[in-house]
Amino acid sequence: MNALHDTGIPVRTKRALVVGAGISGMATALRLQQIGWEPLLVERAPGRRTGGYFTVFMGDGFEPAKRLGIFGSIRDRANPNARFLEMDRRGKFVPGINPSAMMPVSTSYSVLRGDLEKVLFEALDGLVEIRFGTEPTAIRQGRDHAEVTLSDGTTERFDLVVGADGLHSAVREQVFGPEDLYRRDFNQVIAACLLDRPLSGVRKGDNLLVVDVGRSVAVNAFHDHDPVAMFLYCHPWPAAEARKQPTVALREVYGDFEGSVVPELLDAVDRAESTLFDQICQIHLSSWSRGRVVLLGDSAWALTLYSGFGSSLGIAGADLLGTLLTEHGDDIPAALGTWEHRLRPVVTRHQKSAHFAKNFLLPPNRPVSVLRRMMVRTAANPTTGKLFQALLPASKATQAAGETEQNIGGSRP
Ligand SMILES: Cc1cc2nc3c(=O)[nH]c(=O)nc-3n(C[C@H](O)[C@H](O)[C@H](O)COP(=O)(O)OP(=O)(O)OC[C@H]3O[C@@H](n4cnc5c(N)ncnc54)[C@H](O)[C@@H]3O)c2cc1C
Repeated sequence: MNALHDTGIPVRTKRALVVGAGISGMATALRLQQIGWEPLLVERAPGRRTGGYFTVFMGDGFEPAKRLGIFGSIRDRANPNARFLEMDRRGKFVPGINPSAMMPVSTSYSVLRGDLEKVLFEALDGLVEIRFGTEPTAIRQGRDHAEVTLSDGTTERFDLVVGADGLHSAVREQVFGPEDLYRRDFNQVIAACLLDRPLSGVRKGDNLLVVDVGRSVAVNAFHDHDPVAMFLYCHPWPAAEARKQPTVALREVYGDFEGSVVPELLDAVDRAESTLFDQICQIHLSSWSRGRVVLLGDSAWALTLYSGFGSSLGIAGADLLGTLLTEHGDDIPAALGTWEHRLRPVVTRHQKSAHFAKNFLLPPNRPVSVLRRMMVRTAANPTTGKLFQALLPASKATQAAGETEQNIGGSRP
């Protein structure tokens, strides 16, 4: 499809292949369509994912989401009257704190990952071709194009290929090399699933954190949706652990918990339609693009759940990419270079902040666990809580994150 330039000369519409229909991929496809490109979105799964896990959609993503035209459709599911409780291994409840409250961002929404994906998917309707059950099998680069063979048997040429295919990206594997080169393990495993019924002994709407040395469980409540359970535990060989059946692995790790809550949660995992079960790690690449192939989102930087900005930066990264591709016209490598230059400091900051939060949600040893307990007591106290908040490394990181819009936002051409 060609458009007419104002000189009357036909301008070829640029084509992009976007791999992965997660938050980052759908935001990218939407943005590219908005700047006049013709994106093709391919997704390995046979259909759109639903549900997902608890996600805090931070203010960093708000302005980009507004520019993409999706912000008005995102609903905050947080319960303003929710209580935050903690429970020890023996089933004793103590007051907890809202982890988001430790981050002095002016705004954040509690959503399910699937909420953001649904909003983006609906925004793409009728505008962007999506092929489910399809993935790239070969990517060959020419000087000014990439030729991609897809698993549906077609081979097509694109001006740009965007690998937004997540933590275990196949685009990264094909173009940049094996995951082992770029993965930084946290030696932790995560499992998350939706709960299909209330927990006995836990009031509807309560958020619960069960913390023990090297293992924890969180129950995140919404005001209008079933809660989500999340298990986090330390493991020296997380990649091998994540290949086990989640129901088996979780019973091995949490089987000795007393009280009714954790056993009920384990039963809920047995019944769950789908459970996310994976290792926790970050991706560190020295460059996010090679020729006409760029990585965006978890495939490029995987901030982990601990940073709390993965979804926001997927959307913000897509928004900025569209802006710079417009600004740089036909010089796509220059657009990719500027994009990385602007985004890199923000991503680095959030990757660092994850290292503080990981010890809060999952203390790896007894001294950290004791320190953490003291922190929670201090933070839960109305008088000492304010001082505590000001001293937190996470708060510094998040204040800095407020500058993100300056770094990577801004007006559109
Ligand atoms: C438990 C948990 C809690 C989190 N909490 C937060 C939070 O509070 N706040 C926050 O901002 N972020 C949070 N995150 C991180 C955030 O969810 C991710 O950063 C974000 O969803 C990444 O989106 P993505 O589109 O880059 O990747 P993904 O969501 O992984 O999407 C990748 C897509 O690509 C598809 N795909 C994979 N391989 C291929 C292939 N070869 N070909 C075609 N398609 C393929 C996949 O099926 C998938 O649809 C959390 C993450 C987890 C796991």
